[in-house]
Amino acid sequence: MFDLSYDQVFQAVSLGIIRGYENGRGLFVKPEDVSEKISMIRSLPKKFWIYKTHAMKEYCLSRNQIETAMAFSLVRFKRVKNPHYSTGSGATLVALPDVESNLKTIRSFPKYSAKELAKKHEYNVRRKLRNSLSFYCPRCMKKIRAPRGSRVFEEALYGYKELEDARTILVLLHYRHMHTDYRKEAHNVDRWLKPEEINILTNGLFKSFDAFIKWYEDNKYDMLSFERETWIETIRAINRTAQERAKKHYSQIALELAVHDDLLKEQI
Ligand SMILES: [Zn+2]
Repeated sequence: MFDLSYDQVFQAVSLGIIRGYENGRGLFVKPEDVSEKISMIRSLPKKFWIYKTHAMKEYCLSRNQIETAMAFSLVRFKRVKNPHYSTGSGATLVALPDVESNLKTIRSFPKYSAKELAKKHEYNVRRKLRNSLSFYCPRCMKKIRAPRGSRVFEEALYGYKELEDARTILVLLHYRHMHTDYRKEAHNVDRWLKPEEINILTNGLFKSFDAFIKWYEDNKYDMLSFERETWIETIRAINRTAQERAKKHYSQIALELAVHDDLLKEQI
């Protein structure tokens, strides 16, 4: 009716030019107040609230700078529902005139909070370590990086392992997994346990793991649960032993290959 933006009316109220109140559903003002002060209200900037993230982009401010200004009450702000997502944490609006009139001060605030700095530092340390632990694999013809979250990487990061040792382990792991038959053969249990061993572990019933598993699969539904659990334990124990032996066997092959490729020196 008066061709004013919501922001202009809001400012008129918060500056005390007109009376008004907000009841959660909107801002209520008296039309006669507005028409009386119309020229003054029109002179106010059309846009008052701006998304915090927009203000950051528009004025090249970091999150910490704008949030420090908010914490010091240099910049008024309010939380609103995020218009782009019906769920979620909502968005923050900041007062544009406050941002503009305090720009110099806001820019003088530290770009990053102590928490952000610590995070950045940790990120950098991790990146550097990942770089120094990486190696060029001539078989893959590419740079191999430590897998994220790998135990060796974490041990090197916290100083439980020397850099050289960690790198050696990573080379061996890569070679064992990618350039030997380890992944395929580790499950070939009968290759790693002798028939006599299987015989002992299965209480004299079987001489091959494959035959044992076939029998177990065929009969497991007829077993009592404690029986089944006992056999599952046996299967796990046999698998573990097979894995350990396969690991040992293929680690040796991996070492030989890596030494051949000049990635590692011969070790005792
Ligand atoms: Zn490779």
